[in-house]
Parts: sequence; structure tokens; C-alpha cells
Amino acid sequence: MVGIQMHEKVCPMIDASNISYRYNVHPVLTVDAFHLDSGRHAIILGPSGCGKSTFLHLLAGILTPQAGHLQINGTEIKDLSQRGKDTWRGKTIGFLPQRLALVPSLNVADNLLLSNYANDTAADNRRAETLLLALGLSDKVKSYPHQLSGGQKQRVAIARAVFNRPQLLLADEPTANLDDAACSSVIELLTTQATEVGASLIVATHDARVLTALPSATVLRLAGMTAADGGRDE
Ligand code: ADP
Ligand code: MG
Repeated sequence: MVGIQMHEKVCPMIDASNISYRYNVHPVLTVDAFHLDSGRHAIILGPSGCGKSTFLHLLAGILTPQAGHLQINGTEIKDLSQRGKDTWRGKTIGFLPQRLALVPSLNVADNLLLSNYANDTAADNRRAETLLLALGLSDKVKSYPHQLSGGQKQRVAIARAVFNRPQLLLADEPTANLDDAACSSVIELLTTQATEVGASLIVATHDARVLTALPSATVLRLAGMTAADGGRDE
């Protein structure tokens, strides 16, 4: 519920209520209420298959819930046209997909500059240089994804996700298959970058170590839907 203020309008970063999403017949995800204030971080926690990636795709406006309300920084996602959603997403959302999705035929700098292309803005080489320097990738500007280690690829994907200074940075299982040290450093990198651009960070994970690495985050636990739950679709 959005609080009504007499003197100033305060928009939470996320205000979701009674969300339900189904790919086929049965809902795979229901969220009764989820609220996140601007600048706060959150963890979407739960076992494999419980709907974490689906929820991130709803937050990114890639999927639209069949029921419920979802406002991101004051914008009701389902009120946007498809084109409006694409424009909104380019300006508002940074997405770190689990499979990174770097374009293999483009070098590191061009993978970042794709964000400009997608947003129809001029190529910001300076932003690319600054980010790659901050992420320890200055010597990889002209390298292609296949020439990078797994960790380097992930840092390029993080740089690409924050390139447009998003309001909301979504990371899908960023610590999967990482040892403890790498897990802490990836979460630290994500929080540093989120703070740098003033974004809220949301990490979807089944990895309980993230709870320790992000101690002040709001936690949304998803339990997953059974077929019986699905049968109660209202
Ligand atoms: P998680 O990220 O928590 O592992 P997902 O959001 O990927 O969970 O998936 C939630 C449920 O939705 C799973 O049962 C999965 O099989 C199902 N699902 C995911 N994507 C699709 C799809 N494109 N079509 C049909 N079912 C899907
Ligand atoms: Mg997933």
C-alpha cells in the first residue's frame, strides 16, 4: 500500500501486492506483498524452481503478472505499452542474468556500449572506460568474451548492467558455483556498483551465504507452488 503524504510524494522502489504469475495453467509464483524503499537492497531466497527468476523478470517488466499490482518507483508496469515497457526498462533496470549473456562477436567495450544502442543514446566511451577501470578490466577492453575467465566475464556483465545508471539492479544467482571468497567479492562488487549509481540491488538466490554477505537486505522467501496450490488459483 502506498502511504499518502501531505507534503511530499514518496515512491517506494518496489510496491507489489497480490501478484500471481503462471506460464501455463497453474501459477508458479504468488507474492502477497513485497515492499522495498529506495536505496534499500533485497534478497529473493528460495529453492530451485520456486519462481525467483520469474519474479526478477516481472520486476524487469519482461513478464507481466496476470494478477496483482506491481509498481516500480511509482510506475505501474502493467499500464505500460510493450514499447513503453522496453523504453522504461532501458532507463530503469540493470539486469545481471544467470547466464551472463555477453555477445560473443563483440569485444568487451562494445558489449557495454550495446546499452547505449538499446537506449538510442550516443556511445559513451568514457563511461565504458571508467567502469572497466573500476572493475579491474582496463586491459580487457578489446578482448572478446571467449578470451576471458568466468570471473572476468561476470564483471563485464556487471559493468553492462550498471552502464545506464539504473534505479534497480537485478542479479540472478550471481554467486552460483563460486567459492566463499568469490561469493563475498561479487556481492561487494554489486553493492558498491549499486551504491555508486544510487540503485536498489535485488539478488535472487538459493545460496544462503548471500544472507551473510548482505546483512541489511530485506528478505523475501519464496516457497514455490505445488500443483495443489496451483489448483487454488483464484
Ligand atoms: P527459480 O529461478 O526459482 O529456479 P523459475 O522462476 O526459473 O524458478 O521457475 C519457476 C517455475 O516455473 C518452475 O517450475 C519452472 O519449471 C517454471 N518455468 C520457468 N520458465 C518457464 C517457461 N518459460 N515456461 C513454462 N514454465 C516455466
Ligand atoms: Mg532461477
